[in-house]
Amino acid sequence: MKVGLRVDVDTFRGTRFGVPNICLLLKKYSVKASFFFSVGPDNMGRHLWRLFRPTFFWKMLRTKATNLYGWDILLKGTLWPGPLIGKRLEGIIRATADAGHEIGLHAWDHYAWQAHINDMDNEAIYDSLNKGVTSLTQILGYPPDCSAVPGWKSNDLVLKEKSKFPFRYNSDCRGESIFRPLVNGEELTQPQIPVTLPTYDEVIGRNGITNSNYNDYLLSLLDREKLNVLTIHAEVEGIAYIEMFEQFVKTCISRDVSLVPLGVLLREYHETKSSAIIKKEIPGREGWISCQVAP
Ligand SMILES: [Zn+2]
Repeated sequence: MKVGLRVDVDTFRGTRFGVPNICLLLKKYSVKASFFFSVGPDNMGRHLWRLFRPTFFWKMLRTKATNLYGWDILLKGTLWPGPLIGKRLEGIIRATADAGHEIGLHAWDHYAWQAHINDMDNEAIYDSLNKGVTSLTQILGYPPDCSAVPGWKSNDLVLKEKSKFPFRYNSDCRGESIFRPLVNGEELTQPQIPVTLPTYDEVIGRNGITNSNYNDYLLSLLDREKLNVLTIHAEVEGIAYIEMFEQFVKTCISRDVSLVPLGVLLREYHETKSSAIIKKEIPGREGWISCQVAP
């Protein structure tokens, strides 16, 4: 069984510390993954404080947020403009590519995308994507050929603007099969590889899931008959919970489960159907996310 492994990198701290940790771990087990980088300003502190309302407060306590993200992330971009991640940490991004991992665009400004995507017009969306692609192209020496929006926040305008870039695929939603998105009845050509599994922060502390049974829970969700795509975060599995993630990788290998870049799944998926994408709320996550309409 193959499981697509997607590493989302949201912050300066995640890039600086989480990415090298994950690269080292994956090298040890000869695993390749898809890394989606945020390359513009790190204003994620603003994002976390903006969400500071009761449900989020409980989630912060539930996941021990300062442990999970670190105080520096909680404050990034709140007191002074956030640092440009790609500019400051280009060596880490290049080393990830050189190690043979698939590199895609996550965001120019992760915070701004999550906060303002509902109000962004096509030009603002193009501009944000273009800044990210330009920065990654300068870093890598070639353009990134895949992308994944921050926080699974996509819409029809985003899908249309993405089609102006040479992305082989995008991973912008949750769902259960690789598909071509339908926008106003028109089938777009860039396939979507949806994430099928929940993230750590969505399930931890709910329904009896703790750090000691989290990996077993995740493994129980894998389905040999279906598409399996997991997202980990450089900030979470790459720093505070790296040992737990290593245990997950080891268990996968012992059970003949191969962790692979998303592009490998695309190559092996032959009957790509079309689906619309809608906004939905899911347990454990604040606000709406984009979901594939069940095929
Ligand atoms: Zn993200």
